[in-house]
Order: sequence, then C-alpha cells, then structure tokens
Amino acid sequence: MKIPKSHPRYASLVRREKLVQGWRDGIVVPEGLIAQGRGEAFDYLLGEETPAPALVAEKAAAAHLLTADRPVISVNGNVAALASKEVVRLARTVSARIEVNLFHRTEARVARIVKKLRAAGARDVLGPRPDARIPGLESRRALCHRDGIYSADVVLVPLEDGDRTEALVRMGKTVISVDLNPLSRTSQRASVPVVDELTRAIPNIEKFARELRADRQEARRIARTFHRGGNQRATLDYLAWRLKGLEARRKRRG
Ligand code: ATP
Ligand code: MG
Repeated sequence: MKIPKSHPRYASLVRREKLVQGWRDGIVVPEGLIAQGRGEAFDYLLGEETPAPALVAEKAAAAHLLTADRPVISVNGNVAALASKEVVRLARTVSARIEVNLFHRTEARVARIVKKLRAAGARDVLGPRPDARIPGLESRRALCHRDGIYSADVVLVPLEDGDRTEALVRMGKTVISVDLNPLSRTSQRASVPVVDELTRAIPNIEKFARELRADRQEARRIARTFHRGGNQRATLDYLAWRLKGLEARRKRRG
C-alpha cells in the first residue's frame, strides 16, 4: 500500500507496512503483529514522540554499551523488520555483536533474519547453531551463543519478553530494554528501561554513543549515575501529565 506522506500518522503506518511485509517474508510471526499493537497504544498516549525521560535512558544506554567489555544487541523478527539498518549502525558505533534470538524460534526464521541483517550491512551475526542456554528458561527460548548473549556483560534487548529479561538480569548482566509499555515486566526488570518507540530509540542511542565516544570518562560517569527508579517515576509522571492535558482540552471544548 502506498501511504500518503501527509497522513497524520504516517510514521506509524509505515511501521505497520514494514511488519506486514516482514510477516510475508517469514521474518515476523503473527504474535509480533499483536505486540506492535500493544506498543502503539502506549505510543499514542505518549504523543508519538520521545519523552524527555526516554532521552535520559537512551544516553545511559549509549554509555553502558560504549563502556562494556562484551556488548551484544539481541535481534528478533520485529526488530529486524523495523530497524535492521539502524541496529547495524549502532552495533558498529559501539562495537557490539549482533545475535538473533527468537522467542518463537525456528532455524529457518533465524536464517532469514541473519540474511536481512547481512543485507543491511552486518558482517558477523550470531544466531544459527547456538551452543549455550540462558539458565531458568525452558525450551528453545533459552538457546543462545557462548560468545554472544551468554557471556555478554551488557545486552540490549529491544521488544523483549519479560521472562527472558528477568533471566538475563539474574545472570548478572546489565540489561537495556526498549519497550513502549512502562508497566511490562521487561520495563520493570531491565537495568536501563528505555520507554520509547524502537525506530526512534535506536538512532537516538546511536547519536548519544557518537557524542560520548570521545570521552570514555564521561560515558562511565553517565552509566554509573543513571537512576533507574527516578527515571521510571519521571516516565509515569509524564504519562499522567499528558493524560491530564488531554482531559483539560476536552473540557475546554465542552
Ligand atoms: P512482558 O513479557 O515484558 O510482560 P508483554 O508480554 O506485554 O510484556 P511482549 O509481547 O512480551 O509483551 O513484548 C513486546 C513488548 O514490546 C510490548 O510491551 C510492547 O509494548 C512493546 N513494543 C512492541 N512494538 C514496539 C515498538 N515498535 N517500539 C517499542 N516497543 C514496542
Ligand atoms: Mg511477554
């Protein structure tokens, strides 16, 4: 479908088209389309732009990735469909490895996602032939790479499930999430929860990483001083403020 640029929700419709195409290509699962819908509802409430607290979390995310010994970016079907190029660019900027890690795992889908990431410029992508397991998770959801997620000290998990986020935190890793739902278990459990839309969040993190690259000491300071609880409170306060504003506008209209 051709979407007119003048449409007020153009960016959101483009994302939907990318996901539907991803589903046609066997990259996105139907459950992924539902997950996007849940995210969109929160994005609507947040005004479909990056809230100030998310910018703070994105800068902290960049600082953690830059100062990590073994940073890894975890990619699933939705992430590949929506932001392959952006993920590859970020991985390059912070020298992170990319690992395809699927909740609904089939080897064919892993292979298709690896291919898509390669086409977007990735050189080495982990995912096929996993050789380790995330402890505390059953079945194929636990599969990962010893050289990747298993031994990473900092993992970026965009659009991740709560159980796996929790399991990664239990392994002692610094877990950075990107999830529009501030109430999801992922956002509640992650070390650095970024409450922003994926295609805005990844380029923002990359931009901060570029700025911080020249000053490791400043990056370390930002990573150390990020206050998770305060940031989460600020996100919820922002949401409450937005809702109150909408209510006031409704009253004025009568
Ligand atoms: P949890 O398992 O963490 O409790 P959940 O089961 O509600 O969360 P999942 O389907 O496991 O949700 O994870 C998908 C999450 O990603 C949802 O919370 C959704 O809000 C969020 N999400 C979906 N699409 C996007 C997007 N494009 N940008 C940011 N977040 C998104
Ligand atoms: Mg879940």
